[in-house]
Amino acid sequence: MSPKSSKKGMLDWYFKTNLLARILIGLIAGAIVGIVLGFFPDAVKPFVDNTKFFGDLFVRLLKMIVVPVILFSLVAGAASIAPSRLGRVGVKIMVYYLLTSAFAVAIGLVFANIFRPGLGFNIVGDAAIKGKDAVAPTIMQILLNIVPTNPIESLNKGDVLPIIFFAVVFGLGISYVKDSKNEKIAKSADTLFDVVNAGAETMYKIVGGIMQYAPIGVFVLIATVFAQQGARALGPLLVVTLTVYLGLLVHLFGVYGGLLSVYKLGFFKYLKGANEAIITAFVTRSSGGTLPITLRVTEENLGVPRAISSFTLPLGATINMDGTAIYLGVCAMFIGYATGNPLTFNQQLTVVITATLASIGTAGVPGAGAIMLLMVLESIGLKVTEGSAVAAAYAMILGIDALLDMGRTALNVAGDVAGSAIVSKTEGELDMSKWAKA
Ligand code: ASP
Repeated sequence: MSPKSSKKGMLDWYFKTNLLARILIGLIAGAIVGIVLGFFPDAVKPFVDNTKFFGDLFVRLLKMIVVPVILFSLVAGAASIAPSRLGRVGVKIMVYYLLTSAFAVAIGLVFANIFRPGLGFNIVGDAAIKGKDAVAPTIMQILLNIVPTNPIESLNKGDVLPIIFFAVVFGLGISYVKDSKNEKIAKSADTLFDVVNAGAETMYKIVGGIMQYAPIGVFVLIATVFAQQGARALGPLLVVTLTVYLGLLVHLFGVYGGLLSVYKLGFFKYLKGANEAIITAFVTRSSGGTLPITLRVTEENLGVPRAISSFTLPLGATINMDGTAIYLGVCAMFIGYATGNPLTFNQQLTVVITATLASIGTAGVPGAGAIMLLMVLESIGLKVTEGSAVAAAYAMILGIDALLDMGRTALNVAGDVAGSAIVSKTEGELDMSKWAKA
């Protein structure tokens, strides 16, 4: 044994403690510190200024690894899956993503009809907010934009859908070349495949390292949100916050729990396996930023093969936003009630459609859902124009956006993981030893 390894490390107390326990301690301590700080408004700014670095560091580390993780794991995944199967997996996961999102909006609307957030507010146009344009792109445009004109540029800009497209094509290309009759070419494709696989493994290792820093990042991010917004969400907006969170929980337990049990997958095994990703989504408020963690835990803890997860998860982080869908439904209802225009049944049906589409178009970054809310409001004739009551109600929602974003992003990611596990199960590809009863 080398002298070094026999010594006790100075930071053993940190690294030897279970990671999840550390993250939860960071989360709870952050919430407590944030709430306490909220009572001392003068202390909030110095706290935020002095700790910002540590929160930003966590988010930057995650962002750093997103593009390499998607690229390596998706190329490796596509290279190891038969093209026909990729098509089948693609159709299944798209159906799952679409149906669960539409269902999510409906859940949001049902709870908003019961709790009627905003009723009696009678907001009139005073607190002005500038109206922003949120124009829905056409289907043709959306489809065309998936095909990159320059893959390197897409990698550069971090545009996930074109990266997915290129990586899948690249991976499929490798799998064809591996079968080449020319032995030399086939061998070099094997080498390329090994390199890509090694790259993916390396990225996962780095993600594991980044997670060691997570507890500190989590503490700072949560303390900041609670210090800045805690009090506001507990005030007049309490009903909105509770309605959104209730919808999120019902969707998690009812829809994912129900679907998983249909496919004979244990809900608590799923939660336990996915918890690192769900918590990271909660604090970073970014499905895209959480993707490296989502990929790792889905494969390591839940036994979803990389060939499937590397395709379904980046896609899900981009287009499957059930939490956002719930939020859009509830907030559209809130703005209707608060401005004295309760939504009619037909308007609510329109919201189901536009909010489902808007959730698909929502980028997996913090606050993106709030922009899409404008599009949903527009579709039912509630325009956010300067000085209008709708603008004032929208501004109230924006005031607590971070708190709502935490929950909705956590559900967004949870939905991607559940879908990936279910599709793998239907393909007979799920490693069931990870789901066995302990
Ligand atoms: N922050 C969410 C996400 O990354 C998107 C949203 O704002 O609704 O999934």
